[in-house]
Amino acid sequence: MRLAITNIGTIVSGDWRQPFAKGDTVIASDGTIESVGSASTREVEACDVVIDANGTTVIPGLIDSHVHITFGDYTPRQQTVGYLESYVHGGVTTAISASEVHVPGRPRDPDGLKALAVAARKCFDGYRPGGMAVHAGSVILEPGLTGNDLGEIAKQGVWLAKAGFGAFASAYEYAPLIAAARAHDMITTVHTGGASIPGSGAITGDHLLALRPHVSFHINGGPTAMPDKDFERVIRESDIALQICTAGNLRTALLCARLAQRLDAFDRLIIGTDTPTGSGIMPLGMLYTIAHLSSLAGIAPEIAIAAATGSNARVYRLDCGMLRAGKAADIVLIDAPDGGTQSNALSAIRNGDIAAVGAVITAGEPRFVGRSRNTPATTRNIRVAACQLPRDFSGA
Ligand SMILES: [Zn+2]
Repeated sequence: MRLAITNIGTIVSGDWRQPFAKGDTVIASDGTIESVGSASTREVEACDVVIDANGTTVIPGLIDSHVHITFGDYTPRQQTVGYLESYVHGGVTTAISASEVHVPGRPRDPDGLKALAVAARKCFDGYRPGGMAVHAGSVILEPGLTGNDLGEIAKQGVWLAKAGFGAFASAYEYAPLIAAARAHDMITTVHTGGASIPGSGAITGDHLLALRPHVSFHINGGPTAMPDKDFERVIRESDIALQICTAGNLRTALLCARLAQRLDAFDRLIIGTDTPTGSGIMPLGMLYTIAHLSSLAGIAPEIAIAAATGSNARVYRLDCGMLRAGKAADIVLIDAPDGGTQSNALSAIRNGDIAAVGAVITAGEPRFVGRSRNTPATTRNIRVAACQLPRDFSGA
């Protein structure tokens, strides 16, 4: 299917170094962005679906790099069905599992841990809740697992590994397994901050610097933060990605974002929600954190959006997160909420408002946000009228 989005007011690229793209049109074909900028009337008319953006802002689909996936579109943590589809309403087109730790009675023996990761990963191969891409199957590192075990599941496509909830006496004991996961080309992630699950211990700057994962999960605390002084050390003394989560400590989220800017480490700042958890289910969580960073830490909205899109994609090696030819056609149209004081989405975000999501395109397929259901569009010409954007932001 060929899709054109025309009459775009602002194109946010997802690349924080070059946050805007020129032009007013995006064309996608069979799930891939073909061009960003301008297109002839003939090119537009040859498309199967044409969306008139009506001057609104287009951003890459948001990538939530910290979602507690289990199986299907269900979370046992809050006994809720359909939460991932609700996240699509919040502009999230990709979810990355923070490990299937919420599966009731999760196994802790090597065979069970491997089976859980492989099954979770394969269950989302052909299943896209609400159109969202889900990268599941993050192996939970526990005593007894070996490098050979990790090699075995890497062959089955598992490429995420999570340290933090294992039954080790000290967090330093994760080091050999993290190194082994790296050797098998996995992206390694480490819980950061105070213990969030009874029986697990605190993980602070010293641990992170010894373990050297790719990503410090919820560096701002999940939800309890590590000491303030550790942030600068982790930024200066490592190349670990700094994941700020919505369901974390807001003060240290702002502290970390300001430090990342000041110390030229913004490349490494990425956003996730760390939901569903005890903090709840947050379909608009990514938009909240973007608005928090922008309105409270003085980070330009288009740069905060890049931390939620292109920077996540780079750290996790995904082909989405940028509005650029050749990237996945995951695209979101946003605008200032109706009734607010701001004239466009970016000024609304700077003002601390949650941008209204007008339309979501996942893998080149238009899906529209409304009060009721997330249904694929059927008409050929669709006009996204700013005044008709939903005023109900519950995502329900
Ligand atoms: Zn988490």
